[in-house]
Amino acid sequence: MKDIRPITFGGEPDDSPLIIAGPCSAETREQVLTTARELSTAGFTLFRAGIWKPRTRPGGFEGVGAKGLEWLKEVKAETGMRVSTEVATRAHVEEALAAGVDLLWIGARTSANPFAVQEIADTLEEAGVDIPVLVKNPVNPDIELWIGALQRLYNAGLRRLGAIHRGFSTYGKSVYRNAPLWHIPIELSVRYPDMQIICDPSHMGGRRDLIAPLSQQAMDMGFHGLIVESHCNPDCALSDAAQQVTPEMLGYIIGSIVMRKAGQPTERLKLLREQIDGIDSELVEVLNKRMRISREIGRYKRENRMPVLQSSRFSDVVSSRVKAGEEMGMSREFMKTVLLAIHEESVRQQVEVLNERDQQQQQ
Ligand code: PEP
Ligand code: MN
Repeated sequence: MKDIRPITFGGEPDDSPLIIAGPCSAETREQVLTTARELSTAGFTLFRAGIWKPRTRPGGFEGVGAKGLEWLKEVKAETGMRVSTEVATRAHVEEALAAGVDLLWIGARTSANPFAVQEIADTLEEAGVDIPVLVKNPVNPDIELWIGALQRLYNAGLRRLGAIHRGFSTYGKSVYRNAPLWHIPIELSVRYPDMQIICDPSHMGGRRDLIAPLSQQAMDMGFHGLIVESHCNPDCALSDAAQQVTPEMLGYIIGSIVMRKAGQPTERLKLLREQIDGIDSELVEVLNKRMRISREIGRYKRENRMPVLQSSRFSDVVSSRVKAGEEMGMSREFMKTVLLAIHEESVRQQVEVLNERDQQQQQ
C-alpha cells in the first residue's frame, strides 16, 4: 500500500487533525438535525451518524436504515458539514453513495470479517468512486486482519484510506470498554507511515469522562485525529448513551486538548532519540548475554537429566523482578509481559539445546 493519500476533501492536505463528531446512531430527523446544528456552531465540520447499527445481541436498536440518509442530506444542505456513516454490506454502500455520503467507515465487527470487507471493496470498485474510507480495528487484537481489510480496499483502487483505533474486546472487568493496546496502532503506523490513524475515545473508554484523557493521549502519541460520539440529549440516546456528550461539551473537550503537530523533530528530541537508540542496542546485547547463559543452563540440565521448566524458580524470578521494576516506577503489567516474553525465549533456547543433543545422538 504505497501511495495512500491523506483524508482530505479537495484542496491541499494540511496538518490539522481530522475530527469527526456526531451521534452513535441517527434516531430521528430532529435529533440528527439538532445535533448537527449544535456541532456546526461548536466548529465541527465532519459529521458522523450510524444508520445501520451492528448490535452485539438482537433486540438492541438496529438503526433507522435508509431513511436516515435523507436526514444526512439535510445536514449537508443546511450546515455545509460533510457527512459519514458506517457500512457493512453491498446495499449499505450503494445506498450511502447514492445519498452523497462523503466518507464511509467500516465497523469493528465488520473488519473482522474478510467476506464482508471484500463485498464492500467490490461494491466500491464497481462504483468506481474515490471516496475516503476509514477502517476500524477488528474487535480482536489482530493487526494482520486490520491490515488485510485495508488491503482489500486498496486493491479495489481506493487511496484515501485511514484507520480508526477504537480498542479491543477483552473478557472480564476493565476500566475501558475496549482495551487500547496502543502498541497495535503504533505498529500499524510504523508499517504504513503514510496512513492516517485516528482514535475513537468513545468506544475505547465507553464513558464520558474518559473522552478527554484518551483524546489527549492519542494526540500526544501522534494520532491524526479523533472520531467522537456526540448527541443533543445524551442520556436519552438509543445506543451508547453512557459515552456520548452534548455538542457543547464536545466543543469544550476538543478545545482543551493540546493538539500536537507531527512536524520536524527539534534538536533536543533528536538527542533524546539518539540516547534511546543507544539504550536499545545495549538492551539487545544484554538479552543476548542472558540467552547465552540460558543455553548453558540448558546444557547443564541436559547432562543431569533435569527438565527444562522449573516452575517454582520461574515464579521467584518473576515476582522479584516485578517488584524491583515497580519500585522504579514501571507498571506491574509491563514488567510481567517483559519477563514472560524473556522467559518464553529462554525456554525455547533451552529446548533447542536439548534437541541439538538428540540430533547428535541420532547421527
Ligand atoms: C460506532 O462507531 O458507532 C460503532 C458501532 O463502533 P465500533 O464498530 O467501533 O463498535
Ligand atoms: Mn456507538
